This record gives sequence, structure tokens and C-alpha cells, in this order.
Amino acid sequence: MHQEKDAAVAECVESFNRYLSRWPEPRSLDDAVVEWEGEGCFVRDIYGREFLDCLGGFGIFALGHRHPRVIAAVKTQLDRLALHSQWLLNPVAAEAARRLASITPGNLQKTFWCSTGTEAVEGGLKLARLYTGRKKFVSTWNSFHGKTLGSLSVTGRDQFRKPFEPLLETSFVPYGDVAALEHAVDSQTAALILEPVQGEGGVNVPPEDYLPAARRLCTERGALLILDEVQTGFGRTGAMFDCNHSRVVPDILCLGKAMSGGVIPCAAFHSTDEIWRAFHPNPFYHTSTFGANPLATTAAAITIEVLQDEGLIENSASVGRYLLSGLLELQRKFTSLVQDVRGRGLLIGLEIADARRGASIAKRLFDRNVLVAHTLNKPEVLRIEPPLIITKALIDRALEAFAESLKEESRM
Ligand code: PMP
Repeated sequence: MHQEKDAAVAECVESFNRYLSRWPEPRSLDDAVVEWEGEGCFVRDIYGREFLDCLGGFGIFALGHRHPRVIAAVKTQLDRLALHSQWLLNPVAAEAARRLASITPGNLQKTFWCSTGTEAVEGGLKLARLYTGRKKFVSTWNSFHGKTLGSLSVTGRDQFRKPFEPLLETSFVPYGDVAALEHAVDSQTAALILEPVQGEGGVNVPPEDYLPAARRLCTERGALLILDEVQTGFGRTGAMFDCNHSRVVPDILCLGKAMSGGVIPCAAFHSTDEIWRAFHPNPFYHTSTFGANPLATTAAAITIEVLQDEGLIENSASVGRYLLSGLLELQRKFTSLVQDVRGRGLLIGLEIADARRGASIAKRLFDRNVLVAHTLNKPEVLRIEPPLIITKALIDRALEAFAESLKEESRM
């Protein structure tokens, strides 16, 4: 049995290196860990080694791995109609959109279904151009909105953008800075796009007045406000959507990741009836073959129910506070290593002295069977983003692993 698994690992490494890898150095067999199954807050490798998932697939696994209610609903749908005709009316896509309209802030009644976060942002940018008749965008440094050409245009990291220029015309301003927005948003701005908490930028929580000021400015200057809640949506920061904390209602809301309970890729963007009318001259301006598929939309409809029935948003807020205070205590013990701890709900960042030491701490946690990773735009920040179903007991386990890993690292 063991031999069979060893052979499967070797085959995986070989195919990965030959057919998938974009790294110059091949993955080595010695430290290859092949993922195999997931359940609740845990992922197991092919040999059954169990990891506490404090990464949550970069925000996918709000309900944990394979939530039984989502799996059951998707299996039932799979037995009836797997993908949609694209011509007849699909009841599941319609019902899931109705449920979304009941939880999205303000009057964002309309839904466009797609499959990835970047597509949701692409659609939002196109709609903003169509509605306003303007061309330019304003975004923030360190933001992450995706990597297809439109969303890359508003993603605030030169390293990802430069090789692909020219992109859409976008002005970038420092995140959290209201005065900078005052300068940048003008009568030519189609939309200002913001994450209500920057995730990949290093888990940056803006000052309280930031979103309300952005809202006011956009309204004054006739630009749309696009909130990208691909990562912060569905309870991640202790509210159904992060913008609920500040009661700001965007013109366009982009969602993805956790939307379909960690079971099927699903994303969407939402807007008001009035803005949606910009699509009326040609409903085929924007389309997606797999977007409104019944498997993904079944999962999305059930995910909303599970979040509400199981009190996961409240759990995210209270367990998040507990985790944050545990990490702040560790920061006080390891001041030279841990420079900052910040976040909201269960989206928490731990800023380490530098990226190399951050990677070393992540490896030490991995050796203790706890999964974390760095944020994509700021590698010195470790993100902690566990499933929202996580308990205080499991958080204690993670904190213990953090304490041991930091202790070990501080001796180096
Ligand atoms: N927006 C935000 C805020 C994100 O965090 C991400 C992914 N990290 C995206 C968009 C892009 O999503 P996807 O990878 O599904 O295209």
C-alpha cells in the first residue's frame, strides 16, 4: 500500500514538473506533499497526515472542506441536470440570485453569474464604463483584483503589471488615504475600485471614515464605487459583507471565492436595476458559458443558508477576536520578529520582520501540521484565514503551534 502511494507521489511530482510548473527549479520528491482529502477544518495528504487548515484555500473554505449540506445539494443537482442548456430558464440560478438580492447591501438586485473573482471584476469594470460612458479607473496600491487584463489593470502591484502594459488607464493612490482619493477621482473616472480590507496587500484595514468618504466622493463626482469583496465577502470579516460594518453601499459588488461553500467555482457581480439598464441595448455585451451553471448556483444558494443557520458570521467575529488577541499576546513576546498583527473577523495578517523569516515561520508551522501562507502582494505578511466553522479549541491548537514556531525562529 505504502509502495503504491510512494509511486503516486513520484508520478505527481514528475507530471507537475513536466506539465504544470512555471518555476525554473523542479519540485523535489523529498519535500513533496500531495493533498488527498479534506473534511471540516482539516486537509489530509495522501498518507493521511492531517493539517489544520488556517489558510482556507486563500478564502475559499468559509464552510470548511466538503460541508455536508453543500455536498448533498450539489450531488442531488448533479443527478438531475449537471450543466444548463443556456437557452431555457434555469430555476436554481434564479433562486440563488433571489437569495443574494436578499443579503446584498442596499438595492443591488441584479446578479451576473461567473466562475472566478477576476471575471467578476472584469464584468464590474465593463458595466461601469458602459453606464458612465467614461474610460478611466482609480484603484489603490497593493490592491489585488485579479490577473486577467482588465482586472490586472486595476491591481496595484507593478511586478505583476509591468510585463503586460499597456493596460487600461488607471490612477493608483495609497490605500486608506482619503485626501489622495480627493485628487484622483474626477469627472473622467468611470469607477473607483476598492477592497474594503486589502487582503493580498497584507491584510490592511482602512480607517473607519475611508469607505464612507469614498462613497461620498464617487457620488459627488459621478463615478461608480466598485467594492471587490471576492475575499472579504460571506462572513470572512465578521459581517456578511465587510461593507456592512461601515454601512456603505457600493454601486457594483464583486463576489467569489467562498460564495459556493468551497465545493464548486462560482463568482458574481451585482448592481442596481438602474445601472443594469446599461446592458439593455445588447444583453450579449457580457456573457459567460459556465457562469450560471446549476451546480455552482445550487452551492451558492445553500451556502447562504448554512452561513445563517450555523451562525458562522457571528462565529467569524467572535473567534476572530479571540485569535487576534492571542496573536497580539505573541507579538508582545516576540517583538523583534512580529512587527504587527491586524485584521478583522477571520482575516488576519501577521507582519514578520522580513519575507525570508516569514517563509521560515510558515515552514515551522507546516512541520507542526498547521497550514498558512503569505499574502500575494506583501510576502512578509502571513495570512491566517481559517474556515469560519473553526472553534476556539482549534484556534488554541493553532496558537500553540505559532508560539512554538516563533520561539524556535527567535533562536536563529
Ligand atoms: N479580488 C480579490 C479581492 C482577491 O483576493 C482575488 C484573489 N485572491 C481576486 C479578486 C481574483 O480572484 P480569482 O483568483 O478567483 O480570479
